Amino acid sequence: MTEVKSAFTIERRGLDLRFRAVALTAREWLAPHYVRVRLSGPELEGFDSPGADDHMRLFFSDGPVPTERLRASPSREYTPLAWGDDWLDVEFAVHGDEGVGAPWAASAPLGSFVGVGGPRGSAVITGTPDSWLLAGDETAIPAIRRFAAAIPDGTPARIAIEVVSEADRVAVDAPVEVEWLHRGDAPAGSALIAFLDGLGSADAVGDDPFCFIAAEQSVVKPGRALLARWGVDAAQAVVKGYWKRGEAEYHAPH
Ligand SMILES: Cc1cc2nc3c(=O)[nH]c(=O)nc-3n(C[C@H](O)[C@H](O)[C@H](O)COP(=O)(O)OP(=O)(O)OC[C@H]3O[C@@H](n4cnc5c(N)ncnc54)[C@H](O)[C@@H]3O)c2cc1C
Repeated sequence: MTEVKSAFTIERRGLDLRFRAVALTAREWLAPHYVRVRLSGPELEGFDSPGADDHMRLFFSDGPVPTERLRASPSREYTPLAWGDDWLDVEFAVHGDEGVGAPWAASAPLGSFVGVGGPRGSAVITGTPDSWLLAGDETAIPAIRRFAAAIPDGTPARIAIEVVSEADRVAVDAPVEVEWLHRGDAPAGSALIAFLDGLGSADAVGDDPFCFIAAEQSVVKPGRALLARWGVDAAQAVVKGYWKRGEAEYHAPH
């Protein structure tokens, strides 16, 4: 059998790790449990995030505090959604009163300081995948938005996003219709796992797909099983737990 050469690779790039102190300047609720915030300040000059699933570490405070205190504040990982010379937009799944990041995004006073650390590295797709599978929960919507923006019109793609209910859907700009999965009262990840498990080799989106699968940690095993069924090299895909049920500040293995 001749080896099929992929039309794309995932290239890893290191970035200069910088810590920037910025302020919360705007908040827009996109759904009852999903909020977009704008962080602003001159230290954002030069901010860059070449990879659609890059992550940065946000350090949270409830008011204007000196940078040294900000560096010592509790932090969590988020995806840069969009940015300019002096602003950076981030979207948060507001999963309740637990934790640090979600309550901060929901209710920190405008003017609160935030530290932005990173991104320290990027995985960038070079070349053009023949097809795409993007699958995730609320926490992966920012990365899915960024990947979806890179899919050329007419390229075979499937985009599946798990949320609690219809009320939790948000508008996603994409060249194909998003398949919304509702978990209702079932544990996070269960609807996505059923979706992934239901995709046989005949459902492959096309030859040589780029697959991005990120959600509650329980999706990792079925996500890897899907890659195996589709014959996708794991080095050509991203399958990642973005958080873990019952565990604060989960660190996904890289
Ligand atoms: C590479 C990467 C990129 C990410 N990008 C984003 C992003 O752009 N937006 C975003 O919202 N999240 C994103 N996340 C996920 C985010 O880092 C975690 O959800 C984080 O745990 C939230 O911190 P917290 O302080 O709110 O809760 P924690 O203090 O970490 O956790 C408190 C409790 O809440 C639970 N919990 C955490 N997250 C959720 C959730 N989403 N739903 C239900 N329960 C939860 C935990 O299991 C724990 O029991 C990303 C994660 C990674 C690894």
